[in-house]
Amino acid sequence: MREEDLVHAETYRDRVSSVTNTGSRNWIYALKPSGKWYRYRKYTAYFYLVVFFVLPFIKVNNLPFLMINLPEGKFILFSKIFWPQDFFIFAIAMVTFIVFVVLFTVVFGRLFCGWICPQTVFLEFIFRPIEWLTEGSPSQQKKLNEGRWTGQKIARKSLKHSLYLIISFAIAHTFLAYVLGVDEVIAIIKEPAEEHIGLLTGLLFFTLLFYTVFAFIREIVCSTICPYGRLQGVMFDKDTMQIAYDYKRGEPRGKFKKNVQRVEGDCIGCMKCVQVCPAGIDIRDGLQLECIGCTACIDACDEVMESLNFNKGLIKFASENEISSGKKFHFNTRMKAYTILLSLLIVFMIILIGTRKSVDTYITRAKGQLYQEIGTDRISNVFDVKIINKTTEEIPLSLRLEDMPGEIRVVGASSIVLKKETLNEFTIFLEIPLTAITKQNSKIHIGVYRGEKKIQTIKTKFLGPFK
Ligand code: SF4
Ligand code: SF4
Repeated sequence: MREEDLVHAETYRDRVSSVTNTGSRNWIYALKPSGKWYRYRKYTAYFYLVVFFVLPFIKVNNLPFLMINLPEGKFILFSKIFWPQDFFIFAIAMVTFIVFVVLFTVVFGRLFCGWICPQTVFLEFIFRPIEWLTEGSPSQQKKLNEGRWTGQKIARKSLKHSLYLIISFAIAHTFLAYVLGVDEVIAIIKEPAEEHIGLLTGLLFFTLLFYTVFAFIREIVCSTICPYGRLQGVMFDKDTMQIAYDYKRGEPRGKFKKNVQRVEGDCIGCMKCVQVCPAGIDIRDGLQLECIGCTACIDACDEVMESLNFNKGLIKFASENEISSGKKFHFNTRMKAYTILLSLLIVFMIILIGTRKSVDTYITRAKGQLYQEIGTDRISNVFDVKIINKTTEEIPLSLRLEDMPGEIRVVGASSIVLKKETLNEFTIFLEIPLTAITKQNSKIHIGVYRGEKKIQTIKTKFLGPFK
């Protein structure tokens, strides 16, 4: 082993790649990748970006396709409204999503990070291309950064950071559209700023946050800040697919010499795989927490192998077992167990969504109210009624006492018509003949009818005189 390799072998585990041995920031100047995987990744990223920026504008039945309104606790998924009362479905959906992420990670390693994560997609396919455009190749960027401030440097840096700020501003607005809906965001833009000081402050904060992340923090998010990235180490096993260097084939490394019989392994030590790595690591050292599975090093190495007429795949997407013993990927017991669990959760979710009520009624006796005597033969109780109409249409309803004689009167209205997509609140008087009341707390059932069809039965208690 060469001396510098020995020193590297001793020290590369001591710190993350974004930190130098003196503790300062190691700015990574990654070469622009090219090759089959980069092409596929670019298509995936462009599709992803179109979906991200267009989705808030898509509506079905006048409802956004996706909206996650945390302040109001209102979620719209596939243009269906989910309320806090649907929390159970939401909780199961979250558990299902987590199990899916765990299964995906156990099988495919960190592929999500390099291909689908918004952090990587925005950085590699929006912000880094802007950098190439305004500051040139990585070596030109390095020269510019290390050089003194000239008019040209100021112009290039100003252009880059202005574009970064504009894009961050657009990303912050798009995220807000996922929270409030696109109509609300357009209204905020059109209306006077003083009417939306809170929201505009939030927008400014998120714009600066995205700008800071993409202009300065970059790969530190993936290696140090992101909890998913930090957790992945415990999910991997020897069957997990990962970006791996085939050390059996590549070692010992040695420079390529034309017309000389090669006695070393296939790695010629050209460092192309390192120069192209946006995480600033050497994949030949083995799996490292900084690796986001972007596959750029596969493309770089394949190009070298091809130019030398060697077989491609010295760096490839393979499991540790495949590299060490040549065993092809197999779906192990752990993966099967997660798949069964995920399938059960998906079935459960489908049942929950399929049986989810479009009208949800809650009837409770008004707090602090006793019974009232109506004349000499009837007793009345006051109830608060809350009915959520989750549909996009107004619904006329009626309430009927199911197992007792009596009458229901709605305060301030002759009938109940539910407003669409909202929580409707009413007060009702329930009057029951004294003769029908046998105890102080009588169990009663109130039917909720849409036309002649009963859609729900509510159990509650009616307070009468002590008997
Ligand atoms: S080691 Fe390869 S796959 Fe991992 S981040 Fe670097 S270039 Fe991407
Ligand atoms: S690109 Fe391939 S040949 Fe070159 S150093 Fe990396 S692994 Fe070795």
